[in-house]
Amino acid sequence: VKSCLSNQKKWSHLKAFISLHDPTKLRVDAERDCDYHAPHHMYPYWRLIAIKDNICTKDLLTTTASRILKDFKSPYDATVVEQLRDAGFIVAGKTNMDEFGMGSHSVHSFFGSVKQEGLNGEELSAGGSSGGSAVAVKTGQCFAALGTDTGGSVRLPAAYTGVVGFKPSYGLLSRWGVIAYANSFDTVGIFGADVDETYSIFETLDRHDPKDPTSLPPSTRTRIRSLVACRGYQPRWRIGIPLEYNIAELDPIVRSTWLKSLRLLQSKGHTLHPVSLPTTRHALSAYYILAPAEASSNLAKYDGVRFGTRADGPDGTPESVLFAKTRGQGFGVEVKRRILLGAFSLSADSIDNYFIQAQKIRRLVQREFDNVFSLPNPLLEESDSFAEVDVEKGVDVLICPTAPTLPPPLSSLRDQSPLDAYMNDVFTVPASLAGLPAVSVPVQHIKEDSSPTLGEHVGIQVIGQYGHDTLVMNVARDLE
Ligand code: GLN
Repeated sequence: VKSCLSNQKKWSHLKAFISLHDPTKLRVDAERDCDYHAPHHMYPYWRLIAIKDNICTKDLLTTTASRILKDFKSPYDATVVEQLRDAGFIVAGKTNMDEFGMGSHSVHSFFGSVKQEGLNGEELSAGGSSGGSAVAVKTGQCFAALGTDTGGSVRLPAAYTGVVGFKPSYGLLSRWGVIAYANSFDTVGIFGADVDETYSIFETLDRHDPKDPTSLPPSTRTRIRSLVACRGYQPRWRIGIPLEYNIAELDPIVRSTWLKSLRLLQSKGHTLHPVSLPTTRHALSAYYILAPAEASSNLAKYDGVRFGTRADGPDGTPESVLFAKTRGQGFGVEVKRRILLGAFSLSADSIDNYFIQAQKIRRLVQREFDNVFSLPNPLLEESDSFAEVDVEKGVDVLICPTAPTLPPPLSSLRDQSPLDAYMNDVFTVPASLAGLPAVSVPVQHIKEDSSPTLGEHVGIQVIGQYGHDTLVMNVARDLE
């Protein structure tokens, strides 16, 4: 705890946190809990966890980095926070992010941009939207952190900062008390310094929650477990290389590190198989129609009456004027852009051309993944047994970069168009459209002179079939 607290002071200029717990209270909590939880007794440091500021906590504000919620205090803890507290974790603070989770560099925050420092002291993007959580773990301000991943918001910052970022299968972790951006994509994710630590937190949170209607029911969880068990454990896996991911825009360092990880896996006995996922090309456009559409509906409740900080207005101001003023002042530019985009694609004139087409692409992307994996999708009716599965046909996991480039300097983002920022998510959104488990692992990039320097890492992504979260993390461990 002491070391985290001193790191919080040392790195405060990186703006990883929006609110922090009082250090004295934190230390008292840590000491008290040490007595109660004997198994953790030796490792109080292990239990300090940071929570992204769109996950409700009853003792700290939950702002989603938005002016409209700048004073919001939730009367309850989100289920994931409650589960962590029950397991002996202590909440260190709430981390900075892109407003409502919309962004890829954590610069769209009412509280200022998150930063990380490059080797030459240059300010670099921490990735987004959970950039604060990633930086907090990287700089030792906490042991681990929670984020949310709608289209890559845990994996992208993990890749940029060099920590592990895991997005479990959709529906495994509770979303109750998590402020919605796009419900059908939103997934709570975990940041840790290594795969084992990250996985241990996943195991703590992987429970059915009756309060979340999209939480996977116990019967389906049991079914998945028995299907996975049928497959059995084997030390050698079939690794898929999605050919379409080798795009022209790929940074050469990213490409060479991707190759290096494939060679590493091969040297450990796994076999490599090229696969084709042609619809991936359209996944990004589909995501940027569907996510804003859901967002425009979700954000309608922030009107200064039901939720949010109300704009000033004299008595008798008509409601519609007050709503407009509240929302005009309360939301940042990126959030407004998404609301407009979503309202447009859902409008009667456009829904067929945009929203419906994007839903079709989403279904195609899901089918395409099902076709390349040797294991069937346990959510489909016909996947009751592995009896007829030919495990020599498909692949067990896919390996690809998490992002096409290394973290860009913050100064370069000023001239970026919104579309340029959306491009960063090209490798993360396909797994989000299909609800698949995916993790970003930092792989050290070996420089020409073969002297690896701290901070020179590239995020490599492991994607698996729905429900095969453990397998994904096992392969990730082989990349460490
Ligand atoms: N960058 C993506 C977006 O802005 C993903 C964000 C997220 O996963 N929350 O929508």
